[in-house]
Amino acid sequence: MLVTLHGAANEVTGSCYLVETGNARVLVDCGMFQGSKHLEKLNFIPASLFASKINAVVLTHGHLDHCGRLPLLVKGGYRGKIYGTNGTLDIARLILTDAAKIQSDDVERENRKRAKAGQKPIKPLFTLADAEQVFKRFTPLAYNSWMEIAPDTKVELVEAGHILGSSSVIMVADQNGGRRRLVFSGDLGQWNVPINRDPALMDRCDAVFMECTYGGRTHPPYEKTIEELTHLIKESIERKGKILVPTFAVGRTQQLLFHLSEMTRKGEIPAIPIYLDSPMATAATQIYSNHTELLDPEVREFFSDDNIRRFLPNLKICTTALESQALNDVAGPCLILAGAGMCDAGRILHHLRHNLSLASTLLLIVGYQAKESLGRRLLDGANPIKIMGQTIFVRAKIVSVEGFSAHADKNDLLRWIEPLARHKTRVILTHGEAHQLNEMRHTLQEQYGLSAQIPSIGDAIEI
Ligand SMILES: [Zn+2]
Ligand SMILES: [Zn+2]
Repeated sequence: MLVTLHGAANEVTGSCYLVETGNARVLVDCGMFQGSKHLEKLNFIPASLFASKINAVVLTHGHLDHCGRLPLLVKGGYRGKIYGTNGTLDIARLILTDAAKIQSDDVERENRKRAKAGQKPIKPLFTLADAEQVFKRFTPLAYNSWMEIAPDTKVELVEAGHILGSSSVIMVADQNGGRRRLVFSGDLGQWNVPINRDPALMDRCDAVFMECTYGGRTHPPYEKTIEELTHLIKESIERKGKILVPTFAVGRTQQLLFHLSEMTRKGEIPAIPIYLDSPMATAATQIYSNHTELLDPEVREFFSDDNIRRFLPNLKICTTALESQALNDVAGPCLILAGAGMCDAGRILHHLRHNLSLASTLLLIVGYQAKESLGRRLLDGANPIKIMGQTIFVRAKIVSVEGFSAHADKNDLLRWIEPLARHKTRVILTHGEAHQLNEMRHTLQEQYGLSAQIPSIGDAIEI
């Protein structure tokens, strides 16, 4: 059996494994490369994948770096099924639709500039119509049940605890050399945090591919994170300021809504108006409500039926752009959740433009901010700053609350790999930057005497 890495090798994005047995060719994930121009150039389907000769695709979860190249795969001739849990397929539908819209807007803007410069127009990577061809192939798989997805090849999806529907993939394939059992961790979440269930632990296997986004980092304790968040919100309410929270639509928004409701219920903060100003986050929250059976038992009641409105009666949902703009005239204290998570696009931009020059504003960063993103620059103290063509002198308080990661930290990863490492399973480390991968390899060597492999993109591993 041969496993070739077509992404997320020695870096975080573009997750895509091609598994070839004597009898079948299967892909695990088909994600997009993100984060830099250099990486984005890798967003194509290599000829060596022979898209039309792949028997099946399995998705670990719906994030773009795991499903974003599917439209290219189908355009390249893939005609088989695309498997995932029903939660994963719903999230992937939302994320691919949004990505297609963003690309068509970006390309339109770019082509206006190119037309003026007398240059040829460019095309988007994929369109909404391309994404719809992908959705036709979606085939839900239940957790914890085996399914033959290709000749002599079956898979089982188990909880990965990362976002709604996320799974690790266990694959068993029969071939001439005998039976092989592989595990792909997918992106793993933290233990004992609300919203997602805890990751499932694995039985023995021949080889495990484990993500290492934070292979060398430990998150601060979750209770401390919530305490800090409560304190900051309370303090800002006393100053009657607006609290702006740039938020990722899937996962972080739902986690914040749950905690805001808990803080209010316990009387830790007064019931100030909370505005969910992101159509995508609203749609994602609806997906969470549609799949409460996939959530942590402690949050199921909050997300079921119309309970969010009951638990959080001060929540107002802004659907239209006009409703969003009307928030400029609303006085504090209030809290606005708006996308995009790194402040680079979306409705958060006009809230920043209107409120960053006020000393009463709190900009609350609760997610990862990439280098050079507006969120990162604000955190690093850039002042003044240009937003939508306007120069803003920043007087707002800007704070980052760490500890909300959807990713397992070093201790979570070690807890997950422990049953396999004890049996000296072959470990292949992926989905991480070089120093995170190296730290995990070093730890596995020290604790278990294991020498884990760190492959590069294009490497084929014989198992
Ligand atoms: Zn992910
Ligand atoms: Zn990922």
